[in-house]
Amino acid sequence: MNARSSWLEETWRVVLLILVALAIGAVFDQILLFVLIALAAYTLRNLYNLRRLAAWLGDPQAATIPVHFGLWGDIFSRIARISSRQAQREKRLTTLVHEYTASTSALPDATVALDPQGRILWFNEAASRLLGLVAAKDVGQPLQNLFRNPDIPAFLAAADFSQTLQTRAPGNPELHLEVRLAPYGEGQMLLLAQDITERLRQERVRKDFVANVSHELRTPLTVVGGFIENLQNDDSLTDPRLVRPLELMSQQTSRMSRIVEDLLQLARLESQSATTMRAAVDIGELLQLVADECQGLRDDPPQIRVDVQSGRRVLGDDKQLHSAVTNLLANAVHHTTADGCVDLSWCDDGADSLLAVCDSGEGIAAEHLPRLTERFYRVDSGRSRERGGTGLGLAIVKHILKRHRADLEVSSRVGEGSRFTCRFGPDQLIA
Ligand code: ADP
Repeated sequence: MNARSSWLEETWRVVLLILVALAIGAVFDQILLFVLIALAAYTLRNLYNLRRLAAWLGDPQAATIPVHFGLWGDIFSRIARISSRQAQREKRLTTLVHEYTASTSALPDATVALDPQGRILWFNEAASRLLGLVAAKDVGQPLQNLFRNPDIPAFLAAADFSQTLQTRAPGNPELHLEVRLAPYGEGQMLLLAQDITERLRQERVRKDFVANVSHELRTPLTVVGGFIENLQNDDSLTDPRLVRPLELMSQQTSRMSRIVEDLLQLARLESQSATTMRAAVDIGELLQLVADECQGLRDDPPQIRVDVQSGRRVLGDDKQLHSAVTNLLANAVHHTTADGCVDLSWCDDGADSLLAVCDSGEGIAAEHLPRLTERFYRVDSGRSRERGGTGLGLAIVKHILKRHRADLEVSSRVGEGSRFTCRFGPDQLIA
């Protein structure tokens, strides 16, 4: 029976009751008394059913419904249906939660769920292993209070979901972790920590290999280069057929030596500690020095102009900054014709300062821009090799800037020129 028809039936039942009470009351000439008796009986019946409802709500099952007909029967069976649906949903959710918990427990990465105040709600097996958390005592504790190393608490406080943190595992300095945060729900966060010890070891092996190979090649190349030079200067070798091969051999050994030197510079940049980064470098002076040095790069260099608007100095390594600016300026000079110009500038942009190398040369097509700082990436390999380029210049610039916590921004248009901007933040600047 639907709700509307049971309401109608109940209304008719009340009307009938009052009509019967009116009829009996008319016979005995006591209409009011009999109507009151009828209403009292109706109220008592409803109170009784309400009591039964309250008792039954403790465990509302279809099998134990106390009333099966009329409006009350309808109310009881509807509640039984809702309750049964609710129970099924709860069962489904419980199964889901169990499956989710079991699968996240099996994850090799540490996963810690945190409430909006940073307290631990839950964590998996790997979090015990990698972060040293203990279920019995740590759930409910603020996560940042549990680490002695300040890295993780500072990372949690910053709550920057786009960043990752590389740090050593609390309690096990042999393990290296990469930690990230992910938001979920209403203000909750997931802390995920991955064991990257093996990855870092492999990276170190690769870097050491490149550094060692470069180092080993250095001496043989110097010896070969020296012999070629001796042969070129040897007046007793008069055969004209030797001139061109010796010239090519000399060019190629010099090119290999430059590649080896650039690879060694990259290796040094990757392994050097931050202790060399303490000098206050006068960028105005540096730009003027590099501009003078680069005048001799070509017989017909473009005009090089220096514009220094800022008096701020950069806290860092003067040799590295010299190398970065030289690489940028050498590229600009090589890619700009004699009637063009190259501008070196140093100016402030709010709290940041910008070192820019801007040329009116050939420019770079947009599809190459994202890959320019990759090792050995060249827009035109043939031309780069021809002029002695190693394809490592911009990779070195990027590394040097990274060590100075500066960013490299590149904008360019084919046929109009390029602009390489190094943005230094306030932490690296001295007023
Ligand atoms: P390379 O030794 O070939 O110059 P770099 O890493 O310094 O290597 O530069 C990578 C590539 O970027 C170059 O091969 C060149 O094609 C392009 N490039 C760099 N600077 C400029 C510039 N100012 N104008 C045009 N192209 C440039």
